[in-house]
Amino acid sequence: MPSHAHKVVIIGSGPAGWTAAIYAARAQLEPVLFSGVPKQDPGPVLPGGQLMLTTEVENYPGFEHGINGPEMMDTFRKQAERFGTKVIEEDIERCDFSTRPFTLHVEGGMPVLAHTVIIATGATANWLGLDNEMRLARSGGGVSACAVCDGALPAFRNQPLAVIGGGDTAMEEATYLTKFASTVYIIHRRDEFRASKIMQKRFLDRPNAKVIWNSQVVDVLGQDKIEGVMLENTQTGERSRLDVKGLFIAIGHTPATKFLKGSGITLTDKGYVELTRRNSHTNIPGVFAAGDVADADYRQAVTAAGMGCQAALDAERWLAAEGVH
Ligand code: NAP
Repeated sequence: MPSHAHKVVIIGSGPAGWTAAIYAARAQLEPVLFSGVPKQDPGPVLPGGQLMLTTEVENYPGFEHGINGPEMMDTFRKQAERFGTKVIEEDIERCDFSTRPFTLHVEGGMPVLAHTVIIATGATANWLGLDNEMRLARSGGGVSACAVCDGALPAFRNQPLAVIGGGDTAMEEATYLTKFASTVYIIHRRDEFRASKIMQKRFLDRPNAKVIWNSQVVDVLGQDKIEGVMLENTQTGERSRLDVKGLFIAIGHTPATKFLKGSGITLTDKGYVELTRRNSHTNIPGVFAAGDVADADYRQAVTAAGMGCQAALDAERWLAAEGVH
């Protein structure tokens, strides 16, 4: 068992985690940040989080002409490291918050002790959960939850492609795909989008954009590579086949809180970390949360960064109140 307990351990390396690290490091709390390792879960999960799967970020203040997501995360990391954040490229697989200092179990490594913990593990893409969808996603057969990562592959060039979902992510991914595809179909289960008007327009203005309303995908067709999808009309139940060479799922996200199972942290009914007040406090004193892992409503890079700042300030105040120096 290690004898030294860190003042602040941050779990997660998206905007919330890095911002918490910048603030904690500048407060001389010598933060340690676990950035995670790349994995398939079942789709791609990368250190740096969802912005690693984004091209242009146009709505983060301070970048008049936008910035590419991975570049933005790299800049955040360098800023956190400049002030002395120690970055460990491992996953935390389990947390024990029952005794202080807290014990964090590192996948394949020594446990780590921490006086305060900031949970900033974000959220990952949802899947429909169809057998053939997952099989073809795992085998690289043309099913993906990230058009920005996979859409430019040669297999998708000048081919008909489909995106499922009616939110901003679906619009963004579909618009991106119109650059490569012959036709991009958005398949949506209702007759109106929840996406913002500007994002809808950006897609609908493309000459190769098409929308299939009131429909859901009930099967993905094809052996080694996707050849099409079976659609079911959500109003009539009628089934029809649509030939596509790529399928991109954009139906929302799930918070990354599996590793908190059994830790005593209270989660919401949707699995997000529950905050006890309008700040970053969880139900366990000394454990804080920030960003998409604790925010089902806003889910923006800028709000996550703001929450990361709050969490670091809350941790700093808590350590001072507890007399940890
Ligand atoms: P979202 O807003 O929750 O939209 C998810 C979409 O998927 C909804 O249209 C939903 O349909 C559909 N859906 C959910 N489960 C489904 C299922 N099992 N089968 C078929 N369809 C299903 O998620 P999001 O688009 O990922 O956006 C999340 C947040 O990020 C939003 O706040 C969004 O504004 C923001 N965002 C912003 C930008 C940007 O500004 N650049 C880009 C991406 C995301 P229903 O509509 O019928 O519920």
